[in-house]
Amino acid sequence: MLGLYASGIAWTQRSLLDPDYNREADFERLELEKVMCVSPEGELPYSLICNGVQRWGYDMCPSEPFVTETVLEEIRGVANSGCDYMQYFDQNLGGLSYLCYSKEHDHPPGPGRWQTEAMKTLFRKIRQEWKAMGKDIVLGCEAAAAEPFLGELPFNDLRFNIGLFTGEPVPVYQYVYHEYINNFMGNQNSSGQSIDLLKSPDNLLWRTAYSFVAGDMLTVVLGRGGAINWDWGTEWDYPAPDQQAIGTLIRNLNAWRIGAGKPYLATGRMLAPERLTGVSAQTIHMRDGSVLKQPSILTTKWQSSEGRVAQFLVNYTTEPQAYDWQQPYGGAIGALLAYKQPDGEGLELASQTERGMHRGNDRTVILHHAGLDAADAGGGVSNRKCGGRRRQSSPACLRPL
Ligand SMILES: [Zn+2]
Repeated sequence: MLGLYASGIAWTQRSLLDPDYNREADFERLELEKVMCVSPEGELPYSLICNGVQRWGYDMCPSEPFVTETVLEEIRGVANSGCDYMQYFDQNLGGLSYLCYSKEHDHPPGPGRWQTEAMKTLFRKIRQEWKAMGKDIVLGCEAAAAEPFLGELPFNDLRFNIGLFTGEPVPVYQYVYHEYINNFMGNQNSSGQSIDLLKSPDNLLWRTAYSFVAGDMLTVVLGRGGAINWDWGTEWDYPAPDQQAIGTLIRNLNAWRIGAGKPYLATGRMLAPERLTGVSAQTIHMRDGSVLKQPSILTTKWQSSEGRVAQFLVNYTTEPQAYDWQQPYGGAIGALLAYKQPDGEGLELASQTERGMHRGNDRTVILHHAGLDAADAGGGVSNRKCGGRRRQSSPACLRPL
């Protein structure tokens, strides 16, 4: 799958990356100041995003015909490049335009419903244009599509890590919308600005597992020589992540996503998970000196369109990790099953204490990742030594990948 990013309806006046790109003459000749978003005072501010780093430019107002004409011209060229996906609305977060207080444009000054309608009209024109060209290209935006745009932007860059600047991300968006829309992990831009990467070397494993259990497709950002980098934006000269650890995790998680996990993670509905206890915490050191504690096993629960339910448990660390269930599913006999392989083979009772369940009656399935060794073959959950200590009550153990 080949995808491209663009800058949405931002106007680049001059690039700071390519000194030859300069549109100042066009700006004057076409009087483009008239199509830009302006402040309540009627002034023309630079765009907030990427300005001073990659470029200097402005936000265009989607109510202006010039914007539609320009976007359609650009997307026609892209369509002929042979790409499958276009994140044309990168920098239009959620798919929305920026605020415009112009008294000259064909909309009331200030934010309002007109913005939503203008953007939806633009999205539809793009899709109509591609359809007329016989192109089947998926359109997307930066950050998850806002609710009014779910039907227009079906695949988006959900880089949840942006939330690390202000707090702890939780997959609420997927909890509400995943059955209607599928997103991907995004380019993870700014992870290196919020996380102390080298002090928390497992942070990429955690971010990858987070996106997996949230139902998002995974992303790897490549650096020098094709090595997996921490994120988009971290210099290639910076020490790279443990390639074997992230490579193994990606391979295993993807196998689950396209295998036994597909009915849940691709098109399923997220449910509130059964509670795990006894899970140790991993410490992620932030660049501002604070720490973020995250469980060493991430878990989410899903319902497929056929009504089956699965809970996913991912140990993303490089050590075995213990966990306990607190009477999952109300202690229903035989409710716990475990797949041993991502292709759906090896369905087993998840606990030796469970009885009366036969294969295929998987009202509930617990999917373990592919790191379980042969000693675990008798059951996905077993009383065994984990992490160098033996726990008291019906412990379970997830081995590392
Ligand atoms: Zn306007």
